[in-house]
Amino acid sequence: MNSIVTEIRKLKKEKHAVILAHCYQNEEIDEVADYVGDSLYLSQMAAKTDAEIIVFAGVYFMAQTAKILNPKKKVLLPRLESGCLMADMINLKQLREFKAKYPSIPAVCYINSTAEVKTECDICCTSSNALKIVESLNAPKVLFLPDTYLGKWVESKLNGVEVITYPGYCPTHLRIKPEDILNARKNYPEAKILAHPECHMEVTRLADYVGSTTGIMKYAKESNAKQFIIATEKGVADRLKRDYPEKDFILIKDNIICPNMKWHTLNDIYNALAKEQHEINIDSNTAQKALLCIDRMLEVSK
Ligand code: SF4
Repeated sequence: MNSIVTEIRKLKKEKHAVILAHCYQNEEIDEVADYVGDSLYLSQMAAKTDAEIIVFAGVYFMAQTAKILNPKKKVLLPRLESGCLMADMINLKQLREFKAKYPSIPAVCYINSTAEVKTECDICCTSSNALKIVESLNAPKVLFLPDTYLGKWVESKLNGVEVITYPGYCPTHLRIKPEDILNARKNYPEAKILAHPECHMEVTRLADYVGSTTGIMKYAKESNAKQFIIATEKGVADRLKRDYPEKDFILIKDNIICPNMKWHTLNDIYNALAKEQHEINIDSNTAQKALLCIDRMLEVSK
C-alpha cells in the first residue's frame, strides 16, 4: 500500500480524526476518506461524528459548516486556497441590501455561502433538499441566494411559489452550454443526460434528469440505460465510472472541473493531520446564529 496512505491512516487513529471528502475530490483522497458524499451527506456526518479532529477535503464553506456543527472539535482544511467562487459572490453587506429590497420575505441560503451570510438567513438548503426546504416555508414568495440557477430551478418545480434570486452562479457549471446538450443528444442518441441544477436553466430544460450529485448518482445506479452524459463536475463522472464499470459515463465536455475542489492532495491531508494546520475558527456569536440556519435545514431533511 502507498506509504502516505498508511501514514495518514495511522495519524487518523492516533489523533482520533475523521476525513470527510466531497464527491468532487481527486480519486486518491477516497483511499483515506471516512465519508465521501455531497454537501448534505457531509453536513449530516459532521453533525454525528464523535471524532476529535475533522479534516475536510472540500471547500471553505463546507469546513465552516463542519465547525459550526462541532464547535468543540478541531476542523482542518488541508488547503486554505480552496474557497467556493459562488459562496464568495455574496457577503453580509450584499445580503442586507438584497433583503432590504424585499422586506418580510423569508431568505433561503444555499449551503454554498459563508457562515456570516447564514447568520441572517432563515434556513439553508443543499441541492439535494432545496425543493423540500423552500416548500417547508409555506410562503408565496421566497428569497434565494447566492445561486440564481438553483433558485430558478426550484421555482420551476414548485407550483405557485415565486423564488426571487440573488445573481450568484457557479462558474464551473455555467461552462455547460445548451449546444453541448444538443450535440450530446445528436452524438449519443441512446444516452440519458443528467444535469446538476447549478447549470443554466437553458441546460437543465434539455436534460433527462436534473438533481444533486447524490440524485445523479442514484439515477445512474437505478436506471436501465447503459450510457449517460454527465452535465456536472468531472469528479461525479469519474466516480460513476469507478462505481459502475458496466455502464458508460461521458462527461459533457472536458473542462467541467472546479479548480478549488481539486487543491487537496494526500500530502496536504498528511500535513494537515500531522501539524494540525489550517484550523477553521469562527467567532461564537456568528457560529451560534449560523447554526440556527443549518439546524433548521437538518430538521426538515430528517
Ligand atoms: S463547483 Fe461551483 S459551487 Fe461547487 S465548489 Fe466549485 S465553484 Fe463552488
